[in-house]
Amino acid sequence: MASVDVGEVELEFACPRCGAGARATIEAVRMLPVIDCPACGERSGVDLEAFSAQVTAAEASAKAARRKRKGP
Ligand SMILES: [Zn+2]
Repeated sequence: MASVDVGEVELEFACPRCGAGARATIEAVRMLPVIDCPACGERSGVDLEAFSAQVTAAEASAKAARRKRKGP
């Protein structure tokens, strides 16, 4: 079964220091699981377990969207 490519999907990661949301694409986080906060500049590692769950959710919604476009 072909999997959907969600590399371009942006996720939001909350900064552990100031709580601001930093956005990064799934592809970028796969390459380097570190987020630079745009608000305070804090650099923090991504919680890979939570990230994995977000990727799964993004894949599920991408599949659902694709079915919607194709299907009757
Ligand atoms: Zn911050």
